[in-house]
Amino acid sequence: MQELMADIIAELKDASTLSARKIDRIIAVHNRRFRDPVKHFAKKHLAPYYLQVKQNDAALWGSWDLSDEEERALLAAIQMKPRRTASGVATITVITKPHGCAGNCIYCPNDVRMPKSYLHAEPACQRAERNYFDPYLQVASRLTALDAMGHATDKVELIILGGSFTDYPAAYQMWFVSELFRALNDAGESLDGIADVFGMEQKPVPCSIMEQKPVPCSNVEQRVAMYANAGITHEEEALTAQTQAWQQRIKDGSANYNEAVSTLYGPGTPWESMETLQVGSIDHVHEAQHANEDAAHRVVGLVVETRPDSISPESLKLLRDLGCTKLQMGVQTLNESVAATCQRPTPLTRVRESFELARAFGFKSHAHFMANLPGATPEGDKNDYENFVQDAAIAPDEVKLYPCVLIEDTGLVKLFESGSWQPYTEDILVDLLAADVLITPAHTRISRMIRDFSSDDIAAGNKKPNLRQMVEQRIEGLVAKGAAPVQEIRMREIATTETSADQLMLIEEHYDTSNSHEVFLQWVAPAEPGASVQNRIAGFLRLSLPHSDWIKTHAEALPVRPAEAMIREVHVYGAAARLHAPTTGAQHQGLGRALVERACEIAREAGYEKMNVISAVGTRNYYRNLDFTDNGLYLTRSL
Ligand code: SF4
Repeated sequence: MQELMADIIAELKDASTLSARKIDRIIAVHNRRFRDPVKHFAKKHLAPYYLQVKQNDAALWGSWDLSDEEERALLAAIQMKPRRTASGVATITVITKPHGCAGNCIYCPNDVRMPKSYLHAEPACQRAERNYFDPYLQVASRLTALDAMGHATDKVELIILGGSFTDYPAAYQMWFVSELFRALNDAGESLDGIADVFGMEQKPVPCSIMEQKPVPCSNVEQRVAMYANAGITHEEEALTAQTQAWQQRIKDGSANYNEAVSTLYGPGTPWESMETLQVGSIDHVHEAQHANEDAAHRVVGLVVETRPDSISPESLKLLRDLGCTKLQMGVQTLNESVAATCQRPTPLTRVRESFELARAFGFKSHAHFMANLPGATPEGDKNDYENFVQDAAIAPDEVKLYPCVLIEDTGLVKLFESGSWQPYTEDILVDLLAADVLITPAHTRISRMIRDFSSDDIAAGNKKPNLRQMVEQRIEGLVAKGAAPVQEIRMREIATTETSADQLMLIEEHYDTSNSHEVFLQWVAPAEPGASVQNRIAGFLRLSLPHSDWIKTHAEALPVRPAEAMIREVHVYGAAARLHAPTTGAQHQGLGRALVERACEIAREAGYEKMNVISAVGTRNYYRNLDFTDNGLYLTRSL
C-alpha cells in the first residue's frame, strides 16, 4: 500500500492534478505486478490508509511532503462517493474483551490477545485492541473512519463479536451496550442527514478527513487516559511482551486458552481495576436507548454473537432488553461424527432448542457453518449443508459459510502434520460452495464466505479474499449449463435504482419450522431472460406465525402469548428505499410499509389477534407511525 500511495503522490506532483480515472489506472498497474490477488488493492483502501498514516506515522507522512493544496487534491481524488450501498446501513463491528470459552474446538484460534476464536490481526480486532476493547472508543473511531470514507452513518447496525456475549456478567453486558449507544448519541449532529429508516433518501455526508480528529464524542481523551493510568497498554511491543510466554505455553501444549486469559486479564492485573468501572444497569441502557431514538446516528440493528449452549429464556430476555435484534451462533456442522472429531462441545439437540427459542422471541438468526472440518468429505459437506438449511428447528435466516483453515497454536496443527486433515483444493472448495449456494432457499442469506483472517495467519487453506467472486463465477457457469437459478438472498440483492417501482412484484414464500409457520414476503424485480440470477430482491419481511401449542408448552419462559404473530425483520435495500409500493391500494406507501400491512393481513386471516415487531431502538418511531405501540420488549399492534 505504501508503494501504491507513493506512486499516486508522485503522479500528483508531476501533473499537479489527479483524476479519479488516473487513480484507477495507477491501481490497475500496481495490481498487475502481483499475480496473487491477496496483494491487490482497491480504491476504497486509499482514504483509510492515508488517514491512518497521517495520524500514526509522522515520519512517513512527512516524507510525502504534501502542500495544503496537494493534500486537498489528493483527498478529493481518493475520496469514495457517499455510500449508496445495497443495504443502506453502515455496519460497526465491536469486540468484547478477552474471555474464556466453555468449548475448546480443535480448529478454533487461541490468540490470548483476543476473545476466543479471534486473531489480533483481523481489522475489527486491531481496532478493538487499539481502543482497549472499550465500546465507546471503538464506535467513535469507526464512525470517524466511515465518515472519512464517505459512508453515510445515520443508520447503524452494531455487531458485537467476541464469541460468547451471554457468558459475560450481566453488568458487563449492560455497560457494554449502553456505552455503544452513548457513543452514537454523543457523536451528535456532526454528520448530516437522518432519514426515515425505510423510506427516504440518505443525504451525502461531509468528509472530516481533513479535520484529523474523531467525530466529536464527549470524553474520548479521558477514556484513553483512564486505561493508560490503569496500566493497560495498546502498544504492539508491550502487548507482545505481556502475552508471548502464555502463547508459547499454548503452542507447546502446557496450558490452554482459558488458563491464559484468566491469568492475563483476571485478578491482580490492570484489567481487574477496570471491572468496577465496566458495570452498567438496565436504567443506563434504557436512558441511552431513549436518547438514540431521535439521534443523528440511530441503531437500526443490534447483533450479538454467542454460543447456542449459553442461550436461555433469561439470557434472551436480557438481550431483547438491551435492544438486540439478531443472534449470531455457531453451528458449524450437523454431522455428529465430525463434531466429535472437532471436539465441539454442544449437542445438536441443544443447538436446535436454542434456535427455536430465539425464533419464538422474534430474533433473526445468523448461523455459522463450516466446510472442510476434520473428518469431513466434500460430498458429506454438501449433504450436511443441505440438512442444515432445511433443518426445521434451526431454519437459519442468515449463514456465515466458510471453510476451515489452519491457524497456528490450534489442535488442528497436529492433525495437519499427521496428514489426518488437509484443506480441499481450490477447485473442490469452489465447487462445494457453489453447490451450497444453489441449494440455499430463497429466505436465507449467505452473508460471508471467509473469515477476516489475514493471509499471514493462515498456515494452510484458502487465503483468497475473493473466494465469493470465484464461487459466483462458477455458479454462472453452472446455471448456463442448466442448473436452476440462485435463490439465496445476497446474490439477488438489488444494488442500484435501475428497477422501476411499477415493475416490482410482491411474492410470498411459506415454510414450516418446528415451532412456527414462516412467511417470507419479498419485493422482486421481473424475470431477466438468460440471467443466472432471477427474482432480484428489493426488500423483504420475515413473518412468524408461532404454533400455539408450542407457545403454550413454553408459556412460562416466553414474553409472548398464543395468537400473537411476530415480524422478525423488515429490510428494504438502500437503493430501493426511495421507491413507492406499486400496488394501487398502497400508492405512496413505502415498500417497507406495504410489507408490514400485508404481513398484518396474513396474520389476521390466519386467526392471530396481535402483531408484535422486534424493533431496533432506532426504528421504534417508524413502527409507532404505523400504529404499533410500545409493549415491553416489543412494539405491538392489535389485528
Ligand atoms: S465454541 Fe466457538 S468460540 Fe468456543 S472454542 Fe468452539 S468455536 Fe471456538
